[in-house]
Amino acid sequence: MRKQIVTYARSLFERGFVVGSAGNISVKMEDGSFLATPTGSSFGTITEAEVSHFDQSGKLLSGKPPTKEVFLHLACYDVHPEVQAVVHLHSTYSTLLASLEGLSDGTPIRPFTPYFVMKVGGVGVLPYRKPGDKRLGDDIRQKSAFSTLLMANHGLIVCRPSLKEAVEASEEFEETAKLWYLGQHLAIRYLSDEEMEALRS
Ligand code: ZN
Repeated sequence: MRKQIVTYARSLFERGFVVGSAGNISVKMEDGSFLATPTGSSFGTITEAEVSHFDQSGKLLSGKPPTKEVFLHLACYDVHPEVQAVVHLHSTYSTLLASLEGLSDGTPIRPFTPYFVMKVGGVGVLPYRKPGDKRLGDDIRQKSAFSTLLMANHGLIVCRPSLKEAVEASEEFEETAKLWYLGQHLAIRYLSDEEMEALRS
């Protein structure tokens, strides 16, 4: 699993989904312990030995200390028992979208591709908080209806039953946000309610 985290982190870095030391990944293990990308690490250079392994009480078992944003991940695991992996990105177009005025829960992006409906689904919006503000954990708990969340002026959180699904949904979100931005002045044909319903069933 450490290897998978490193492989996905590097892949996201190489394709420009993360820059600097922004973004983090975590995985919940079968024994209830967690793996997470370490604090201050770059997705481009992180090694398997550096991946943080800690127990439910937060005690470090091996690797470097986890990302300072680990409390966001733990709040996701708290409210979504089926979730085994969380990806948090400050990727360009998702962060731009998260910085719009007047976003509301449900569909901050009005769906126009089937894959957004199938892989991403409903999106919750978290209020702006200073990075590290522990109230963000409570915000996530209050939005338990959503396993994809936009953090106002900050980025994206995706919680899924596997790391593969979490990474793929994150990529789908970022690419859809990019299409949304590029298509703002075009006469987009949005999916109808019936078309979206058919994709969900
Ligand atoms: Zn962040």
